[in-house]
Amino acid sequence: MMDRDRIKEIVEAGPCPAGMDEKVLAFASGEMKNRDERIATLAHIALCDHCRYLYEDYPAIEEAVNDTYPSAEAAEIGLTIDGDFLFPAAAFLSERPVAGVLGKEKSGVAAFTVPLGKGTSSITAIRSRGGVDLEIRHGDPAARFYLVGATGYAMEHPSDGVVRFHNVRPGRYALSPELREFMFITIE
Ligand SMILES: [Zn+2]
Repeated sequence: MMDRDRIKEIVEAGPCPAGMDEKVLAFASGEMKNRDERIATLAHIALCDHCRYLYEDYPAIEEAVNDTYPSAEAAEIGLTIDGDFLFPAAAFLSERPVAGVLGKEKSGVAAFTVPLGKGTSSITAIRSRGGVDLEIRHGDPAARFYLVGATGYAMEHPSDGVVRFHNVRPGRYALSPELREFMFITIE
């Protein structure tokens, strides 16, 4: 059963202002095969709370007869850039930031272990000249990754099991292996 908080979240998020509901459901069900359409839909989900909840609750809609369903809730990591440093949000942090500056946890590197699809991904974020470099290690070492934001997307192949995105600028992104499951990254 969907819990009350969840239903409240969905109701408060309101209808999709862009009318993307059908496309989000087609993405969630796997019916949407076209790559560009999937990228556009992911870009929208990254920015629209209504569609995010709609996507995450798709399994519940689909398996409404069951009391339990596998959560499709997308993980989210957050990073705040402050000069040469990164302040990582605590969720999914796999190690404490290394450098302590006057008792504040400040470091240029943050490592996360994040559930993504059926497995977990290790994500290392490194403050770089143009923003943040991301290094991703995934259960499927051959998976290509898409980083989809409001203004476009990047796709990278793994090299020696590591996918790298360089100089990612502040924004909210969906990070997705092969445009199937995804997680969110917010950089401020
Ligand atoms: Zn929407």
